[in-house]
Amino acid sequence: MINVTRSSMPPFEEYCEEIRGLWDSRWLTNMGEKHQKLEQALRDYLGCGSLALHTNGHLALENLLEAFELKGEIITTPFTFASTTHAITRCGCTPVFGDIDPESFTLDPRGIEEKITEKTAAILPVHVYGNLCDVDAIAAIGEKYHIPVIYDAAHAFGVFRRGVSAASFGDAAMFSFHATKVFHSIEGGLAVCRDEETLRRLNDLKNFGIHGPEEVPYVGGNAKMNEFCAAMGLCNLRHLEQEIEKRRHVVEHYRARLEGVPGLQLNPVQEGVRSNNAYFPVVFDGFRMTRDEVFARLAEQKINARKYFYPLTNSFACYAGKPGFDPADTPVAAHVADRVLTLPLYADLAGEDVDRICDIILK
Ligand SMILES: *Cc1c(COP(=O)(O)O)cnc(C)c1O
Repeated sequence: MINVTRSSMPPFEEYCEEIRGLWDSRWLTNMGEKHQKLEQALRDYLGCGSLALHTNGHLALENLLEAFELKGEIITTPFTFASTTHAITRCGCTPVFGDIDPESFTLDPRGIEEKITEKTAAILPVHVYGNLCDVDAIAAIGEKYHIPVIYDAAHAFGVFRRGVSAASFGDAAMFSFHATKVFHSIEGGLAVCRDEETLRRLNDLKNFGIHGPEEVPYVGGNAKMNEFCAAMGLCNLRHLEQEIEKRRHVVEHYRARLEGVPGLQLNPVQEGVRSNNAYFPVVFDGFRMTRDEVFARLAEQKINARKYFYPLTNSFACYAGKPGFDPADTPVAAHVADRVLTLPLYADLAGEDVDRICDIILK
């Protein structure tokens, strides 16, 4: 069986060595040594000073929305994981869906301005598949209307544009370190912001607003990363570049087999961008089989591809009947969601498996 992804693991001994000290210190969570070390390593890697580790990416995003004290409408994309839309809704805001760019699958900046009203509180785009959004156009809109831009960068850890990390774009960004992501800490997430005041709020939100044993000036929840997860993050970060390089070989193999085949649209290569090779989406548009047929043929051979993202979040049952939740309003996103399939991709996916997958698709 070949799954769509497979978690990367550091050498077993390396992880054991990393956690050994916890048996002496007995400090298992609450911003311990591993947590502090990982935050410092991430500041260095991402080139961003203000960041807060979280239990997972979703809570990092909810805490960011809360730290910015957003009320009203947030312009976003329906071509994303449930988390993005749910975070907006759970924070008491209303998602307003813009359509996506058909090449990069990210929120199309050309549709943003017409959605802006006096209720608009923020723009929340997603770097889908690690493809960077049109960050310059979106920054210009944010500045023109004085609305913050917060990126869901869950897919974009390890992506750099001309040496600048994906964490650097917008007023804030969230990364997911879930087991299925390119870089992971089993479960985990990161909120990146630009100033110390927002960072203080994030740290309050993730630890009950507690400042000291007898001092609780802020209403917060709990979203702290524990030491075992931070240790996994420290180990995986050491191997990340090698991991991305191995993924690049798999991606190049897929491209060599599938590029130029009529009816197949592949992920774009973005100019000046170092990709993290997180996903290999293929859009079956005018191919001799539909996406669902390809999915079924692969499944017969125990190959699990994923309809990612399908369905769109604006067609989820939990939002049925809510005004503004209609995939017909985002026709490009609806078109892609019906045709896209992400193929299996992980660092040690064998070349012969890539060939087998491509053979099934092409034959
Ligand atoms: C994985 C993911 C999230 C949520 O991250 P978790 O760490 O699983 O909470 C949010 N948005 C997108 C686009 C994701 O892929």
